[in-house]
Amino acid sequence: MATAVTNGHPVNGDTAYPNEVNFERVQIIDNEKQFTPHLTHQVERWGLQNAGFDYDIVAVFGSQSTGKSTLLNRLFGTDFDVMDETKRQQTTKGIWMCRGKGMNVMVMDVEGTDGRERGEDQDFERKSALFSMASSEVLIVNLWEHQVGLYQGANMGLLKTVFEVNLGLFGKKTPDGRNSRTLLLFVIRDHIGTTPLANLEATLTADIQKIWESLSKPTELKDRQLSDYFDLSFAALPHKVLAADKFELEIQELRRRFVDKSRDDYVFKPSYHKRIPADGVAFYMDGIWEQVQTNKDLDLPTQQELLAQFRCDEISAAALAEFNEQAKPQRRPVEAGKRLLIARYDKDASRYHQGVYKRKRADLVAVLDSTLSPLFLGQLKNLHKSSLVTFKEKMHEGMKGEGYNFADVVNRLREQCEKSFLEGAKEALVEETDWTYEDEFALLKEEMKSIADQFRKDETKKMVNIIERNFKRQISEPVDLCLNKPTAEMWDNILKTFRETLDKAEASYLAKAKSFNCTEQENTTALAILRKRAWLALRSKIDEQTSDASFLAKLRTHFEERFRYDDKGVPRVWTPEDDIDGAFKKAKDEALTLIPLYSKISPTDPSLEYTLPSETSDSLAQDLDDFDFPSTLIILSETKNVGHY
Ligand code: GDP
Ligand code: MG
Repeated sequence: MATAVTNGHPVNGDTAYPNEVNFERVQIIDNEKQFTPHLTHQVERWGLQNAGFDYDIVAVFGSQSTGKSTLLNRLFGTDFDVMDETKRQQTTKGIWMCRGKGMNVMVMDVEGTDGRERGEDQDFERKSALFSMASSEVLIVNLWEHQVGLYQGANMGLLKTVFEVNLGLFGKKTPDGRNSRTLLLFVIRDHIGTTPLANLEATLTADIQKIWESLSKPTELKDRQLSDYFDLSFAALPHKVLAADKFELEIQELRRRFVDKSRDDYVFKPSYHKRIPADGVAFYMDGIWEQVQTNKDLDLPTQQELLAQFRCDEISAAALAEFNEQAKPQRRPVEAGKRLLIARYDKDASRYHQGVYKRKRADLVAVLDSTLSPLFLGQLKNLHKSSLVTFKEKMHEGMKGEGYNFADVVNRLREQCEKSFLEGAKEALVEETDWTYEDEFALLKEEMKSIADQFRKDETKKMVNIIERNFKRQISEPVDLCLNKPTAEMWDNILKTFRETLDKAEASYLAKAKSFNCTEQENTTALAILRKRAWLALRSKIDEQTSDASFLAKLRTHFEERFRYDDKGVPRVWTPEDDIDGAFKKAKDEALTLIPLYSKISPTDPSLEYTLPSETSDSLAQDLDDFDFPSTLIILSETKNVGHY
């Protein structure tokens, strides 16, 4: 074979290259649909990193086992895997790339199983086809002659999909205002020759045109023509085995179209170039693959997936409908209901495509949770409400009669209510959710505390009232007695009695208050109230005994006792020589000495003087306000004192 040199590039693979240049191939997309991180490095190894725009990219498209790899190897001197005749099966998947020998060409070969025969690989088949179309300048569409005109057989359905998504993804003008153009080079294999190439060309052109017209295009691109994006070109190759020589000749002829820029039918026209410098190709292709991979339009479901989607939706909907029906009358189906429903879905749907089954399961769980969440919150609210009602009722019950310990009652009931709330809330909780009852529980505890506080305040008030009543009863008689004995120690006696009785009252308050868990502040206030009321009770007792009528009666009795009885208490028998006037005056004067005695509460023993603070800082103790203690010591006003008697 003669060594041809075109545009400075050696054409024949055997021609010398710098030592470091090699022609090893690299798998740019692997079985896991991952883009290789090594392409940049590989471009260097191919000696292309400094090629700038002086390189081209070609890819191949076509059914499985139509001799694609064979064709590429013959055209470009690459060594892509060719199917082993003896095994007739291919298991690897992926896209391979190799540098063409003797030319600055990066050649891509797609390996994979046939999507139409093995449904689950359609996703890769379509993605790899789109990737090839979007990234290469020339896409070789490889097909048998007998496939021409057969829509399915010639992969036309796949081409339609790829056209469509390609238009959506990459159909806009490039930043420099050009359309990104691609050459579709149809290579017709095993061309027998009875049908001239021109006829085959016409058929294929018409088919492609029809496909283009049937595309659903984005609105802004709806008027775009096939020719705005693609040029079509054609070649035919004879049977590789039956017409081996002719095959060889045609291959060489076709090869020249890839290398001889002077030819009219030279394929790598500048308008197809993506204008990416060679050292940026890896990054650029990675980006395209990323777009292809993440594009939702391209998540082309397999038959199994389509079926699974349909059935899983149906199963899920049926289960949900049943659940909603049951959920209405029953207010408590939350956890059990959900578990039942999921189990039902699992049973029916798990035999379908696992990816779809799991996705739809997650959807179902999400729908369930959002349906059940308000139910759960409703249950918590009800629990909360009923817990508070129960707590209140039991508080009333627990404080019936005497002899209960308030703090004990509160603690016991609080524990009971918390426990029953928690039990209820845990029952309502649904597994695998982030639902929580903590907030509601905290609220409940707070409200129970404020109810208990209110109860305690009410009870404390009641208690103070009872103690006040007892106090009044207890001082009534002794004070009466004292007031009717107008001695100099009268106030001492009264205040002594008052003190003793009040001490007892305070002690009985403090004893009770302990069981109420009253605060120091509450005790101070309650005692202040108690002392004031006790004092006022004493005052009203004194007022009763020193009202005008009863005080006059006291004076009269006193006068009469002095006037009518002698010093020994014996009734006087008046004789004419008796100084009746003198005795009258003496008795009257003596009686009048009572006025200052009764007019003011003033004991002889200063230690018995009683004082009350006239003000208190506690705003709760409102009945302590406007109380001027010193004025309460005055019994008879100045005018009464002097004028009346
Ligand atoms: P690919 O799967 O499309 O890459 O096809 P291969 O290149 O691996 O070839 C598949 C089979 O077809 C191999 O057994 C090849 O020897 C055979 N083959 C390759 N080229 C031709 C051809 O032009 N005509 C015929 N009839 N068979 C071919
Ligand atoms: Mg192959």
